[in-house]
Amino acid sequence: MRKPLVAGNWKMNGSRESAQALVAGIKEGVGSGATADVVICPPFVYLSEVKSLLSGSEIALGAQNVSHRGNGAYTGEISTSMLLDVGCEYVILGHSERRALYGEDDALVAEKVIALNAAGLKPILCVGELLGERESGKTEAVVARQLDVLLNSVEGLAALQNTVIAYEPVWAIGTGMTATPEQAQDVHAFIRQRIASKDAALAEKIRILYGGSVKGSNAVELFAKQDIDGGLIGGASLQIDDFLAICHAAK
Ligand code: PEP
Repeated sequence: MRKPLVAGNWKMNGSRESAQALVAGIKEGVGSGATADVVICPPFVYLSEVKSLLSGSEIALGAQNVSHRGNGAYTGEISTSMLLDVGCEYVILGHSERRALYGEDDALVAEKVIALNAAGLKPILCVGELLGERESGKTEAVVARQLDVLLNSVEGLAALQNTVIAYEPVWAIGTGMTATPEQAQDVHAFIRQRIASKDAALAEKIRILYGGSVKGSNAVELFAKQDIDGGLIGGASLQIDDFLAICHAAK
């Protein structure tokens, strides 16, 4: 049985004040004995403060990116050891915004997954197709390419043991155009089969989240699908009630 996970990706939003209010509301609403693991991923500059605010709760802290390099002369970058130092457990990697706007390709994302795993952090690895790729029947080929870079190397396969996958069709992110539960389930099943072809035990235990315009109103239907183990939530993670409804939908 895979314990569901709901991760909130705040992206580049908020202020110290809004972060405090958001964490207080989520902490109170999630309470103790939540059925899902809950992770919140604020911008880097708020990580320390959010970690302190989360004390006494089981909500975990995640970052939205990391450098694949160790500490050193890399101006503007953040290392795995820094994220561990401020209490992070998870890191979102390969988000479509990083891929599209900052040129992160499959090889770099794979390097980051491997570096994170070596540091003892858990990657939340995003994969997913563009609208044009879906429309031309390339969804599975794209997702396979994004996964194979890890599945086909010994280090990559080892790193996947501690990874959470997030299937995020790019056309559904921030657009209000959620994939139907059936569309999402089909791709999740494909991902699980692809992993099973290399490691059946890993395929059984790995958590595969869906991301793309998940809201309180559509989460129950999505999370009811066999291979959907929770969600990666953008916009709705900035709304206390909506995010809590999603957390409670993941059972
Ligand atoms: C995301 O940023 O990963 C995401 C899924 O965003 P949204 O929920 O707003 O579509």
